[in-house]
Amino acid sequence: MIQEIKISIILISMYDLLQKYFGYTSFYPLQEDIIKEVLAHRDVFVLMPTGSGKSLCYQLPALLFNGLTIVISPLIALMKDQVDGLLANGIPATFINSSLSYAEIDARRQKLLENELKILYVAPERLLMPEFLEFLQGLKVCLFAIDESHCISEWGHDFRPEYRQLKVLKEKFPNVPVMALTATATQVVQDDIIRQLNLSHNKIFKASFNRKNLYYQIRPKHDPFHQILQYLKDRRTDSGIIYCQSRKTVETLASGLQAKGYRALPYHAGLSAEVRTDHQERFIRDDVEIMVATIAFGMGIDKPGVRYVIHYDLPKSIEGYYQETGRAGRDGLPSDCVLFFSYADKFKIEHFIQQKGDEQEKQIASKQLREMITYCEGNVCRRKLLLAYFGEQFKESNCGGCDVCLEPKERFDGTIAAQKILSCVYRTGERFGINYIVDVLLGARNQKVLQNRHDTLKTYGVGKEYAKVQWQSFIRELIQLGYVRLDGDEYPILKLHEKSRPVLVGEEKVFLIKPEEKLPVQKAAVSETYDQTLFDRLRVLRKTLADQEGVPPYIIFHDTSLKEMTVYYPQSMLDLRKISGIGDRKLMKYGKIFLEEIINYCEQNNIIPKQCSPQPVEFSVKEAKTSTVQVTFDLYKQHLTIPEIAQKRGLAVSTIASHLEKLILDGEDISIDGFVTPEKQQHIRGVFEESGLQALSPVKEKLGEGYSYEEIRLVRAKMILER
Ligand code: ADP
Ligand code: ZN
Repeated sequence: MIQEIKISIILISMYDLLQKYFGYTSFYPLQEDIIKEVLAHRDVFVLMPTGSGKSLCYQLPALLFNGLTIVISPLIALMKDQVDGLLANGIPATFINSSLSYAEIDARRQKLLENELKILYVAPERLLMPEFLEFLQGLKVCLFAIDESHCISEWGHDFRPEYRQLKVLKEKFPNVPVMALTATATQVVQDDIIRQLNLSHNKIFKASFNRKNLYYQIRPKHDPFHQILQYLKDRRTDSGIIYCQSRKTVETLASGLQAKGYRALPYHAGLSAEVRTDHQERFIRDDVEIMVATIAFGMGIDKPGVRYVIHYDLPKSIEGYYQETGRAGRDGLPSDCVLFFSYADKFKIEHFIQQKGDEQEKQIASKQLREMITYCEGNVCRRKLLLAYFGEQFKESNCGGCDVCLEPKERFDGTIAAQKILSCVYRTGERFGINYIVDVLLGARNQKVLQNRHDTLKTYGVGKEYAKVQWQSFIRELIQLGYVRLDGDEYPILKLHEKSRPVLVGEEKVFLIKPEEKLPVQKAAVSETYDQTLFDRLRVLRKTLADQEGVPPYIIFHDTSLKEMTVYYPQSMLDLRKISGIGDRKLMKYGKIFLEEIINYCEQNNIIPKQCSPQPVEFSVKEAKTSTVQVTFDLYKQHLTIPEIAQKRGLAVSTIASHLEKLILDGEDISIDGFVTPEKQQHIRGVFEESGLQALSPVKEKLGEGYSYEEIRLVRAKMILER
């Protein structure tokens, strides 16, 4: 019985904390189960894709523990942003790393000793220093969360030797549960992590790797710079990453885009650490929209609002491609993943693989490349193939989010075009590549063609009915369909095939994709109806505030929250509170200023706001939640005082106060005079007016001993509502 009550209290408080600190009303899949497991003090292994909300799985329990949660993360550069994000939600957190002075580290350690913090971020190097371990042993550590835990495995793509030593955690802290988190899917890595960390119970939480909001598309690469310009035309304000294979391409493309007026920066391992950090920072803070980068850029990029990831060159493996595309749309909003595919790139990579000394490495790399090519060439749903790669079955016949499913190709009888191509390959002696064959078909008068006297061939100039790009894609299609093949490494040439003959002699018809006016690169198909003008205004406001505070804009509000505001046009703090991602702290800190902007905008444009949609909440829990608040409400109506209600219900005074606070914020007519004397109310109001409706503790400090947190909270709720 007591156990049951305990569990239901925890359930209620989980949802309260979710709303209060994170501004969400429901959990993402698995989050709740994982949190319950953690609260039961068991080890857990969390395997979920990027954007699935892994951080919340340790951040929320950290609030319920009466001690410290230690997050181990390999990326010192990102710790500050992570901590700023928590602080912005009102969660006491800090980090300790080499970027801080000794004095600063000391001050933070002092706070830890005083049990004032809930979450501490450290890198493994620091954690494992004997002196630091000893220091931690003197604290009440409740959980270790190991982020990017695949770094522990040599089989993973980001192996870090210092992660290996993390196995000492289980020896030094035998009673502290460990949570390992990763987005890397392969089985070998999973097993390795569990073994290395010596996790007990082996409870694995594995989410689907399907990223529903990502729109996968593959485009033939013929003139990539212009293709990208065309793509970017209506996306000037969107954030995106463009991946290239070489540093040189990164540099050229970044300056090319700059010359066209885009705010783009390069990022690759050839730049100094300072430049890289600076560029990353400017990208994260929305000072520039586009990051042109090699794969050196990416692990742990927490920016939630990346709207597209473009692969300018062919990636070397599906695993890498999945991780890179995964950086789009962490916030769950529709985002694009565009890959420009060419056989020339394939040959470049093959050439590169041939240079490798180690035979086994060669084999692995070749296999990875083959898988990648199958993915690009096939006419099978991209999502289905990607998920199959990770051992997951996708059963739906149309995924609604890839080029194959959304832009089914119309075909036409392309036999004549195919015959022209094959015949041209034959007559030029099977010695030339794609572009040369197209030149001959188009009757180009270039030196090479004239030198070879190919202007005298029967097929010279017979292809003027289609443009160059079109012939190129016909040839690529014939390769895919197996009517002709590419041969050779560095300068691949077209060769006929046994399947060529029946086409040449007219025995077999070939159906090709119908030519289009221009090759489209479409916006994600998921429909979005938000007010772009207001969104832009809110974005500017957010950027101004972010710069004032020296934090990335997404720390103030995610795009998701801003977009929701432009759909519902909230007119009061109460409305605003219903917007996803707005917890108490943010409501108080930024609510008023955003409301003003929205209200002004509505007035200027004669907009009549819609009702805020009720947010989706899991039914059973919603019931549990409303009913407990309802019981308090009923007792309140019977004129019981807070301590009386608390006693009657066997709950803490603070819990009852939080119920009343909730009722007030929900707009119920609750008088607080019975709980806080009018004089006290006056006094509390005065202090809030001075300090702004922010954190409770500074206000409590000013007011002194005679005032309880409960009293202060209730007055604050009243004030929020009045505003
Ligand atoms: P991961 O670490 O798995 O890549 P994050 O923890 O960064 O994912 O979360 C991805 C995004 O989802 C963030 O923008 C986060 O604020 C948001 N998010 C997490 N949990 C929820 C939830 N329960 N409801 C709504 N949004 C959530
Ligand atoms: Zn599909």
